[in-house]
Amino acid sequence: MVITSLRSAVKELLENALDAGATSVEVHLCDHGTTSIEVIDNGNGITADDFEAVALKHHTSKLREFDDLPGVGTFGFRGEALGSLCALADVSMVTRHRQAPVATRLKFDINGRLVERTPAARQVGTTVTVRQLFSTLPVRRRQFCGRARREVTDLLQLLWGYALVADGVRLVCTQQAAAGRRSVLLSSPAVAALPERVTALFGQKQTATLLPLRPTAPSDGTRAEFGLGAAAERTQPKVTVQGLVSSCEHGKGRSATDRQFVAINGRPCDHTKICRLANDVYRSYNRHQSPFLVLSLTLSRQHVDVNVTPDKRMLFVQNEKFLLACVKESLVQCFESLPSSFRVAPLAPPGLPPVTSQSPSVTSSSPSGGPAGDWISAIKRSAQKNGGSTSAAADSSKRQCLDRFFRRVPTPEKPDGGPDGGETISGDPATAVEVETAISSDSGFTESSSQESDDGARRQGRRRARLAFSMEELRRQLTELESATAESGGTGRDWRFRAGIKPSDNSAAEEELSLQIKKEDFLKMRIVGQFNLGFLVTQLGRDLFLIDQHATDEKYNFERLSRQPLSKQPLVVPQELELPATSEETLLSQPEVFSAAGFHVAEDAAAPPGRRLRLLAAPAVQGVVCGRSDLEELIWLVQESPGPLAALRPSRVRAVLASRACRTSVMIGTALSHSGMTRLVAHMAEMDHPWNCPHGRPTMRHLVCLNMLEKS
Ligand code: ADP
Ligand code: MG
Repeated sequence: MVITSLRSAVKELLENALDAGATSVEVHLCDHGTTSIEVIDNGNGITADDFEAVALKHHTSKLREFDDLPGVGTFGFRGEALGSLCALADVSMVTRHRQAPVATRLKFDINGRLVERTPAARQVGTTVTVRQLFSTLPVRRRQFCGRARREVTDLLQLLWGYALVADGVRLVCTQQAAAGRRSVLLSSPAVAALPERVTALFGQKQTATLLPLRPTAPSDGTRAEFGLGAAAERTQPKVTVQGLVSSCEHGKGRSATDRQFVAINGRPCDHTKICRLANDVYRSYNRHQSPFLVLSLTLSRQHVDVNVTPDKRMLFVQNEKFLLACVKESLVQCFESLPSSFRVAPLAPPGLPPVTSQSPSVTSSSPSGGPAGDWISAIKRSAQKNGGSTSAAADSSKRQCLDRFFRRVPTPEKPDGGPDGGETISGDPATAVEVETAISSDSGFTESSSQESDDGARRQGRRRARLAFSMEELRRQLTELESATAESGGTGRDWRFRAGIKPSDNSAAEEELSLQIKKEDFLKMRIVGQFNLGFLVTQLGRDLFLIDQHATDEKYNFERLSRQPLSKQPLVVPQELELPATSEETLLSQPEVFSAAGFHVAEDAAAPPGRRLRLLAAPAVQGVVCGRSDLEELIWLVQESPGPLAALRPSRVRAVLASRACRTSVMIGTALSHSGMTRLVAHMAEMDHPWNCPHGRPTMRHLVCLNMLEKS
C-alpha cells in the first residue's frame, strides 16, 4: 500500500502536482488533515480523455513505453497513488487542462471509478480534495485522529525536503482547525537560492550557521578508504555534490539529526548511509553535535533505480561507493577550509598500539572499522563482558535464594541420567517420550519414535538422549507448587523483583517497579517501621520495600512546585522569536502550557511564518531569568513528551524548583511518627514519576520477598 500516513498521502499529491509542471502548490489541511486535505496546483491539468482512468489502479500517463522506466524523470510512474487514496478516503478533483475552456469537477468511488463529472470554474491546474482519510479502515482512522499533530510534524519534515530542492516552485502548507483561523505552517519562495530557502523555512539564525558544499573529486585517501582505484573519476559516472552543512565550529551544529535532507536528482529521499557518513565526518570535527544538512546530489539517471519501494523514498545507486566518497570529500574540504577547524584524532587507550594512519579523520569514521574500529569494538566487547559478569553477580544472591526455594519443592528421585547425564524427570516408563537433542541445527526438540527418523537423526549427526517424562508427575508437582504458594499467602509471582539495590541496577529496578506497582498500591502499603532514621520499610502482600524518606518527599514537593504556574516577568523590549513554523504551531496550539510555565507570547497573524511570534514575558525564578533558548527547550519538551504537559518546565527552572523542594523536605536523620510515614507513602500515590527524586536519586527499592526468606 503506497498510502500509509498523512505524510505519504500528501507526498503523492504533491508529486503529482510537480509532475504536472506546477510552479505553485498549496497544501491545505483541515483539522490536521483528519477532516480534509486539499492540494491545489497550477500545473497542466488533466485532459478529458484521461478523466475515466486517472484514479484507476496502475494507470499512469507518465510512461509510454516500458523502456522509459530506467530513465524516468517524473516523481510518479506507478499509477498507484490516486487509486490507493480512493480506497481509503473520499476523493474528488477539480481540474482544467491548458487547452480546456472550462474546468471539470470529478468524483470517484472506492474503486477509483469516475462516478460524477460536472463543469466547474477554475484556472488552469488541478485541485485534489481528500476527505476523511482512512475512513475505510476504522482502526487506522482512530489512530490517525489520535496522533494527528504528530502526523503533521512528520508531514512538515517531508515538505521541507521538497521546499529546499524544488527551485522554481512556491510551496505553501496551511492548517485550519474546524472553527479556527488558518495558520501557515510552511511557505517557501518560488525562485530563490538555497540559503534563502533555508531562511524562509528555518529562519536567518539557522542560515547564519551554514557553509556551502562544493563538488570535489575524492582525494587519494578517501578513494582508498572506499576501495576505489586511482582512476575512479574517469571510470565512474560523474557525481555532483551541492548543498549546505552546519559549520563544525563549537555550537553551530544541532543537538539532533532532525534537519538532514538528501535529494538525488531533485528527488528527496531517505538515504541512511549518506546521513550516517555525514554525521560521522561532522562529529570528527565537532564531537557533540549533529549537522544541519541539505545535500543535493546529481548523477546520471541511468545509475539510479527509484523503483525500489512503492513510496520511492529509497533509491538504489549503482556506483554508491563513489557517491559516498564524493560526499565525504566535499564535507571534509568544507570543514578544512575553516581557519579554526581541526580534526579530533581518536585517542588510543593506554597499552594499545597507536593508530597509524595518514588521515585520522578517515580512520575515525571508517565504516568498516579499521584499526581504530578494532580497538573500539574490543573495548566494547570487554565492557560488555564486565557488565555481564557484574550483573550476573548482582542477580546471584536472589538467584541462590530462589534456587534454594526450588530445591525444597519435592523433586522426584533421580533415575539413571541419560547419556548426557542430564537431569531427567522420573515417571511411568510407559509414558516416556524420546527427545532428540540436535547438535547440528538449533531446531533442537523433535519427537521421534520410528526407525526412519532414527536413521535421519544419525545421518544428520545428531546425538540422541532418552528423557523420561510423565504428565502425571508434572501435574502433581504443579498442584504442590500452587498449594505451597497459596499457603504462604503469596501472589504466586515471587520473582517479580530481580534487580539488586545498587546504582548499576537502577534502570532495571525502576522498570520493575513501574511495571509491578500501581499508584493505588501505595495506599495499600503497610508501614513496618523506620530504619536508620532515613528509610521507611513498607510491606505490600509478601514484598517488603525500602523507601528513602528524603528522596520521596523531595520528589513530591518538586512535582507539587512544578504544577504551580510560574510568575511572568515582562521584558523591557519584546523579543522577536523567529521560530520554525512547527514550533510556532506547537506554541499557539497549547498556549496554556506555555503560560503556566511563565512565558507570554504575542502573535502577529499577518506576519509570515517564522516571524509571527514575539516574546513579551518570561519566567523569573530566584534570580534565574529565562529567555528564548529556554522557550525553545520547552517547545521541544512539549513536542516530545508522551505524558501530561502541564508540569513541563525548562531545565534551568527545574533546577531551581528541585533545590527549593530539597530544602523543604524531610531530612535524613529525622525520626518520623507512624502518621508522618503514612503521609509520605500516600503522597507517592499522587506522583507522576515516583521512582526517583529530581536529582536522580532512587526513592524506593524492593527489599525482599518474604516467601523467599521463609522457604530458605
Ligand atoms: P502516477 O503519478 O504514478 O502516474 P497517480 O495515481 O499518482 O499515478 O496519478 C495518476 C495520473 O493522474 C497521473 O499519471 C496523471 O496523469 C494524473 N494526475 C494526477 N494528479 C494530477 C495533477 N495534479 N495534475 C495533472 N495530472 C494529474
Ligand atoms: Mg503520482
